[in-house]
Amino acid sequence: MAYYIGIDIGGMSIKAGVVDSAGKIVEKDTIVPRVAEGQDAIAKDMFDLCEKVIKKAGLEKKDISGVGFGSPGTVDADKGVITFAANLGFKKFALLKEFSKYWSVKTAVGNDANCAALGETKFGGGKNKQNAFFVTLGTGVGTGFIVDGKILTGHKGGGSEGGHICIRMGGEKCSCGERGCWEAYASATGLIRQTEKALKKYPDSLMTTTLENGKVTGRTAFEAARLGDKAATKVIDTYAKYVATGIVLLINVFRPEVVMIGGGVSNAGDILLSRVNRYVSRHCFGDKRINPVPKIVLAELGNDAGIIGAASLVM
Ligand SMILES: [Zn+2]
Repeated sequence: MAYYIGIDIGGMSIKAGVVDSAGKIVEKDTIVPRVAEGQDAIAKDMFDLCEKVIKKAGLEKKDISGVGFGSPGTVDADKGVITFAANLGFKKFALLKEFSKYWSVKTAVGNDANCAALGETKFGGGKNKQNAFFVTLGTGVGTGFIVDGKILTGHKGGGSEGGHICIRMGGEKCSCGERGCWEAYASATGLIRQTEKALKKYPDSLMTTTLENGKVTGRTAFEAARLGDKAATKVIDTYAKYVATGIVLLINVFRPEVVMIGGGVSNAGDILLSRVNRYVSRHCFGDKRINPVPKIVLAELGNDAGIIGAASLVM
């Protein structure tokens, strides 16, 4: 059995795990990034964290075949440089070069959503597929595309921003400054806005009983819809169409075998998936007898997708 380390870099925590060649996490640990100390200090911390998890797993450094890093922001994978990651203050951070000062081992770095897509395609919802994509429905909408078994990065790692395809010209304002982006409709933020609107229009709806501390969340409409509430069901129907519309656009370009959905909103499960699948099968391009409609499935790795995906970069 070969072992790898996957490092999932986040603004609040950096997680590292020893992952075996079957995609199982053997041991993991976490540190809080010393953002104020600068990026070089963070590279040293990541090395220390590697040593810690290796020890925890009862292994030695020579047992590790490679270390993969998943970072938020724009990553130039060819150069091993994190071009820009706002939350961590990374700017032109030559991570792989810096890390090699501490340990000369095979390394690779990728954008975190792309890593999750790779991990899910190797070991999760898209196992053994060559063409797949992964969508996270959270505060924003993240996407990662696996094309012919490889991560699609685009020029200097600037591609793969599926959340910002326009699904409605002149529509809702997006966090990126544009209007009508898929993210503005299909994110948890978009769903909350749609739910609040419906609640104002139907103040007697059961959605008033599924608030959390008096607040609308990404669960409010789903839970009320499960209780049979009509207004909530309408919210879910429309939201699922928004999710599916973006997926159809992307299917028509990339034609994957499977589409995996993760992120907080995906916890709604079948009530969302069944609607998205129905819409996608009706609206995606092509003759179904020749090109079967890709199935939309739930991602399977959950919070571990980052670690497993980063490790997959060096497998
Ligand atoms: Zn946008």
